[in-house]
Amino acid sequence: MSAYEPGPKSAALLQRALQVIPGGVNSPVRAFGAVGGQPPFIERGEGCRVQDADGRWYIDLVGSWGPMILGHRPPAVMEALRQAMEGGTSFGAATGREVDFAELICERVPGCDSVRLVSSGTEATMSALRLARAATGRDLILKFDGCYHGHSDGLLVSAGSGALTLGVPDSPGVPAAVANLTLTVPYNDLEAARVVLATHPVAAVILEPVAGNMGCVPPDPGYLEGLREACTAHGALLIVDEVMTGFRVARGGAQERYGVIGDLVCLGKVIGGGLPVAAFGGRRDLMERMAPAGPVYQAGTLSGNPLAVAGGMATLTQLTPDVYSELERRGAALQAGIEAAIERTGGGARVQRVGSMFCLYFRDAPVRNLADAKSCDVARFGRFFQGLLRRGVYAAPSAFEAAFLGLAHDDAVVDELIAAVGGALEEG
Ligand SMILES: *Cc1c(COP(=O)(O)O)cnc(C)c1O
Repeated sequence: MSAYEPGPKSAALLQRALQVIPGGVNSPVRAFGAVGGQPPFIERGEGCRVQDADGRWYIDLVGSWGPMILGHRPPAVMEALRQAMEGGTSFGAATGREVDFAELICERVPGCDSVRLVSSGTEATMSALRLARAATGRDLILKFDGCYHGHSDGLLVSAGSGALTLGVPDSPGVPAAVANLTLTVPYNDLEAARVVLATHPVAAVILEPVAGNMGCVPPDPGYLEGLREACTAHGALLIVDEVMTGFRVARGGAQERYGVIGDLVCLGKVIGGGLPVAAFGGRRDLMERMAPAGPVYQAGTLSGNPLAVAGGMATLTQLTPDVYSELERRGAALQAGIEAAIERTGGGARVQRVGSMFCLYFRDAPVRNLADAKSCDVARFGRFFQGLLRRGVYAAPSAFEAAFLGLAHDDAVVDELIAAVGGALEEG
């Protein structure tokens, strides 16, 4: 089956981009290396759709990799941004808006007594780790194969989708001395984590409570509870990286959905509604160690930026409990439709979904960890991806990414998606 052909404007932009931007993209996951062909260049978005430079519209399943839970250009967020912009774009000083925002986060996120705003998920996780090391006086961290926690040196070890898609599990430039402080075990293998915790002085266990950077891998029943207990028993802190799942899989994130509370929590993506905001927070006694309250240094020129905070605040304000039951309903309808299409077209694929995040894996058996995810039929995914794009569905160009539904994907759009997925599956 033929690959998607970009329009002439997108094709010309790619040629220019390749001259002045490494690989033509500002984040490697956006490139089409893993699926072949050339990407459309996106110019605008409206609701659940994006439009490329050639005027073609697509149903967007990427949602900026998670943040756009309200869709593109939601009126309340646009209005809040306009108002904030009138007051100026950055002061590098304390603002009332940050206080409102921090109060809202602490109210909604379980276990979050105090929170520090940063500008990216990468900053949030690397700062939380520094704090955990300072608080425990230990250097080692434990992470899980296939979980991604941003691209800081110590976390770029067995780190999921981006690196996985490129086939470079560990990046050159990460000093061995740093990588050696990061221990890894398979996701959903409680015993393996227990053994490491019992035999090594681990400062922190960091995990994605639903692993969304190897598709969509929910925690096995009891897994999060078991990790929580093991951390407490061995004096390690539990850092729940909710950069993807926060305000996504439930109003209070995965901690609320599964009833397991970390010592520290990292937030990003949805929290900024498409603007650069992320955060880490948690137990007061830990957060009070952050400068200037305590000695653990961390800082940011644009942290708590007025525009970004206004965008985040307006987004979170829209996220009522009803939003999550509605997203659950639409997610279930989409899953049922895709499963029927899989059945009709001869099987060999399965859907894994938690609320409004999901993944279609080309494999019959459940995907519980990275090894399972890697055993999927990646070549078939490539063909499927091209089929979707030709049908006007913009999905992540990798077999190891989650797809996202938002409030703008209404029932009619869900039906369109089911039809497009069915058509792409039929082609092979
Ligand atoms: C996206 C992501 C990050 C990194 O966030 P950036 O804003 O891209 O730096 C960290 N952890 C998880 C779980 C993520 O999904």
